[in-house]
Amino acid sequence: MSATRHEMRFCPNCATALAQLSEIEDGGPKVRLRCPACRWTHWNNPTPVLAAVVECADKEGRILLARNTAWPGRMFALITGFMEAGETPQDGIAREVLEETALTVDETHLIGVYDFQRMNQLIVAYHVVARGEVSLSPELAEYKLYAPGEVKCWRAGTGYALADWLRARGHEPQFIELPGRAS
Ligand SMILES: [Zn+2]
Repeated sequence: MSATRHEMRFCPNCATALAQLSEIEDGGPKVRLRCPACRWTHWNNPTPVLAAVVECADKEGRILLARNTAWPGRMFALITGFMEAGETPQDGIAREVLEETALTVDETHLIGVYDFQRMNQLIVAYHVVARGEVSLSPELAEYKLYAPGEVKCWRAGTGYALADWLRARGHEPQFIELPGRAS
């Protein structure tokens, strides 16, 4: 998954330049990016992101982790993607897994919901059981298959999802520390 982050600068309703303005909200006065002309507010709510621990049913139940071409270093992580309008999260994660790996998803099981405040995202993490031959999308540089007892977790949203899934399967998660990525 990749997305360029743009700044919100103009009102999408009337094209006036937005400003940091205070308004009385349910919790009292609050400064947010608002439109001085029509009072439109940029709420900046977190974006839902779908993530998958992909279990390859036809590869001894090994777990697929992939490395995004945009990431520095050799970081392998879950398959992720933005939820789209008009789909359920289960359909969305099956679509993302198919688009990014060419694997067909047979089952989806919710692992949990995780915050990722650094990116202003809310991660909805699934364990998916998938099958087929792996063919990566151009977004992904390479993938690795791990036995569940061998996979390492990382200290960020999707890494905690993987750790929770491992714990539920009776594997005590091992964490790797990523230099320069404290979150
Ligand atoms: Zn406006």
